[in-house]
Amino acid sequence: MKIGVLGLQGAVREHVRSLSRLGVDTLIVKRVEQLDEVSALILPGGESTAISLIGGETFLKRLRELAKGGFPFFGTCAGMILLASEIEGRAEPYVGAIDITVARNASGRQVHSFETTLKVEGVGDDVPAVFIRAPYITRLGDGVDALAEYQGHVVMARERNVLVSSFHPELTDDLRIHEYFLNIVEKRNQEDLK
Ligand code: GLN
Repeated sequence: MKIGVLGLQGAVREHVRSLSRLGVDTLIVKRVEQLDEVSALILPGGESTAISLIGGETFLKRLRELAKGGFPFFGTCAGMILLASEIEGRAEPYVGAIDITVARNASGRQVHSFETTLKVEGVGDDVPAVFIRAPYITRLGDGVDALAEYQGHVVMARERNVLVSSFHPELTDDLRIHEYFLNIVEKRNQEDLK
């Protein structure tokens, strides 16, 4: 099993580091063809506009196709914005892999970045979370589960094989959220073999 990390811009190395610490094979995906070599894709934090412009329509189109087929995605911060089906103040979504609405930069400007501990459903009561100009989830579709909240805002959610978080688990030493995602990927791979 090989996990891809979208390597166009943002906190790419940090995700690779977390996955390597879990003993997982990783591939930094910079070209659209490389998506064929991985069982799942992590979309890192950074700047969603920049990531979408660097990847361009070819990348987005392929990601949309993969999403339709149940491909596992994990988007952190900017990655969550890219995966959302609706973005406040923007006419069109990017990939639209998860039925949520997000509000960009809802947690403040860069100077208001902060670290806290969250209760994350299925993960733990004390999960460290770093927020950097983070988006919040303002609407959850019917098939979407809220996994964590911060001050009344949903900050982590899952719809089938797609996981998103407003915060950055890759900027902490805690590996439980990456482990949680790997379980989703493993289950999906097993179902494919049946
Ligand atoms: N504010 C950024 C955006 O809108 C996300 C910030 C982050 O990924 N840390 O893309």
